[in-house]
Amino acid sequence: MTDTTYQYIDGEWLPGDGEDISVVNPAEPSDPIVSFPAASRDQAAAAIGAADDARADWAATIPDERESLLYDVADRLEDNVDELAEILTTEEGKPISSSRGEVARTADMFRYFAGYARRTTGETVPSSDPETFTYTIREPLGVVALVTPWNFPIGTPGWKLAPALATGNTVVFKPSSETPMVAKRLVELLAAAGIPDGVVNLVVGAGSTVGDALTTDDRVDGVSFTGSTDVGRHIADAVATRGIPIQTEMGGKNPVVVLPDADVEAAADAAAVGAFGGTGQACTATSRLLVHEDVAEAVIEAVVDRAEAMTVGPGMTNPDIGPAVSADQDENNFGYVNVGKAEGATLRTGGTRPNGLETGYYIEPTVFTDVDPDSRLAQDEVFGPVLSIIEVCDFDEAIDVANGVDYGLSASVFTADMARARAFTHRIEAGVIKINGTTTGSDIQMPFGGMKASSSETKKELGQSAYEFYTHEKAVYRTDP
Ligand code: NAP
Ligand code: MG
Repeated sequence: MTDTTYQYIDGEWLPGDGEDISVVNPAEPSDPIVSFPAASRDQAAAAIGAADDARADWAATIPDERESLLYDVADRLEDNVDELAEILTTEEGKPISSSRGEVARTADMFRYFAGYARRTTGETVPSSDPETFTYTIREPLGVVALVTPWNFPIGTPGWKLAPALATGNTVVFKPSSETPMVAKRLVELLAAAGIPDGVVNLVVGAGSTVGDALTTDDRVDGVSFTGSTDVGRHIADAVATRGIPIQTEMGGKNPVVVLPDADVEAAADAAAVGAFGGTGQACTATSRLLVHEDVAEAVIEAVVDRAEAMTVGPGMTNPDIGPAVSADQDENNFGYVNVGKAEGATLRTGGTRPNGLETGYYIEPTVFTDVDPDSRLAQDEVFGPVLSIIEVCDFDEAIDVANGVDYGLSASVFTADMARARAFTHRIEAGVIKINGTTTGSDIQMPFGGMKASSSETKKELGQSAYEFYTHEKAVYRTDP
């Protein structure tokens, strides 16, 4: 993997003009897998220029053509699933079966959104003037900037690229600097499928330079960002004065609530999968388990058992849990173990590096009990396999604690009482709600996004709302001559 041309501008692969970026394998981080020059600000501007030049022709393609191009992308993703999954695991660390699943899901996304090319609809509306016919049309935004994180390094780009392209937008895509390799392969497949020059451009570089250049350029007509709350809010501020559509999907501190009538084993399964799967590096990861005191000991025991049964190791060996993505994330995870101890929470299991895995960014799945709901451990997004268990004495307290954080992305309740479950859906401050399910996982056809510090609460991702985000609605009044 010595190829160092990572920038794709106007249909041409180019070396960057910026500073070097190195990518490491978090399972064996000693040597970089690849180092290459990042894009410069000028290259980011050139990519926007290429997207701007391509926008009129791309918007004018017949929708059938965009649809079949996107189906072709889906086929290519499936044909290359082994190679893509291996690249993904090598740079991000997740178990190879998870990487394969992510690639397959990305193919499914291209297939789902391909259909939207021909389903860009409008409405006819009765006019107040009998001589006038009133209706709406939807048009692409134009040039959109897509900025993505490392934790689903092909899935998240897919769920932005597919609807953006289906609806006739041109794109400048900036992946995370931690995971540029799978992003590059994705763009190679888009190009191989025949997406015209300038329609998709890739610029790889730091958020503070390349990302900033994309989100502050007047030629950009829309921004879709997924990442941390601090960066998302910074970008939202930067584009606010230009009034362009922006979508920011950010952090979470997602609760599973277990009521006394819950199926304890099912709740423990969901909490363990949600908290430790993906090394806890999902925006929808379960990071708080709020258990009713009547079932607390049974649930805690069942969750600790599951944590201790999970295997940790290199993603290529397909363990339950791979390494954290980077040295920073590794430091952060152990940092929060120390925070929890210092705050007086009880460490029930984990919190250490597994034996024999001293060189990678590994941590045993970690469970704290007796966690104060106002403590940092219970409030901050850890983004690692660290679960805080909090006991509550009734449903109202569960709701208060669940809502007592800045975030509001995903939440789950385990109960047999469907009236309670319905009350939960109304009272919980979360954009994604599960009844008797994991906080993680979502359907492509369902809207995805959060509330409060988890989202700009503009248009959601996925489903019908993705198509709405990437299009302008125009109102037409036609009076016959
Ligand atoms: P991050 O640090 O916020 O970075 C996200 C992206 O923004 C990266 O491509 C980053 O570039 C770029 N960026 C950084 N500063 C920027 C700036 N000033 N202007 C423009 N772009 C900038 O997030 P991360 O560490 O990659 O990912 C973890 C976070 O993502 C967690 O908080 C997680 O909850 C969140 N997340 C949310 C969702 C969701 O849908 N709600 C899904 C997945 C992840 P570089 O890193 O290359 O510098
Ligand atoms: Mg980061």
